[in-house]
Amino acid sequence: MTAPMVQCRALRKSFGRIEVLRGIDLTIARGQVVCVVGPSGSGKSTLLRCLNHLEEPQSGRVYVDGELIGYEERGGTLRPLSDARLRRQRESIGMVFQRFHLFPHRTALENVMEGLVAVKGIGAADARRRAAELLDRVGLADRAQHYPAQLSGGQQQRVAIARSLAMEPKLMLFDEPTSALDPELVGEVLAVMKDLAATGMTMIVVTHEMGFAREVGDHLVFMDEGLIIEQGPPREVLGAPRHDRTRAFLSKVL
Ligand code: ADP
Ligand code: MG
Repeated sequence: MTAPMVQCRALRKSFGRIEVLRGIDLTIARGQVVCVVGPSGSGKSTLLRCLNHLEEPQSGRVYVDGELIGYEERGGTLRPLSDARLRRQRESIGMVFQRFHLFPHRTALENVMEGLVAVKGIGAADARRRAAELLDRVGLADRAQHYPAQLSGGQQQRVAIARSLAMEPKLMLFDEPTSALDPELVGEVLAVMKDLAATGMTMIVVTHEMGFAREVGDHLVFMDEGLIIEQGPPREVLGAPRHDRTRAFLSKVL
């Protein structure tokens, strides 16, 4: 039996005295698309950031593809991983943010090439070829030589997705990838994400796009105040929410 792609157990995270994640348990099978929804401040971004150890949890464990994230276990005690090993773990987990964080002085192609050359150590010619393929995959073959400022927000976000995919991640995390976009640009980014889902990529998507959650999501998680309040097949949770807080939230976004 193969391990789930993600296993999150009793995860807790505080900032100062405020407990932002209050015991999160979540299991995600390979190839699943999990959409995470919930009010602002409910801990969605913090959860994603704990999954790749950008935030250090107070307690609890995260396993990705069976591997404990951020720590090694020796004789029953956990020790922080070395920077080099943590970096290697992070390389296998792609992350796409609301803001695109592209290098402004590099073309689309160079942005996608960057990790291939700097992290994967691939030669420039091969990296260029691979980056061009990835830009093609997100529908931007004709924008390879454009700089971020010459691209729309939707195009920039697609470059960011291609750049993430260049690292060949086993898991992709999306934190409100379309929230900063003009409404008419949302669809092109969601379409790329839908294509990616169809390739079997395991994805966790924090989003307010309930249409995407319903159509592409295999599972929907509703968070409030640092807890998973409700989860299940998107159609069930969206169609017949069981909890008052889920209903109240959905009545605002649907
Ligand atoms: P969401 O993504 O659901 O809007 P977040 O995970 O960003 O929620 O934030 C959850 C809570 O944690 C919020 O109250 C936020 O202010 C707080 N928080 C997030 N990051 C930090 C931080 N680095 N330092 C202090 N408080 C933080
Ligand atoms: Mg957030």
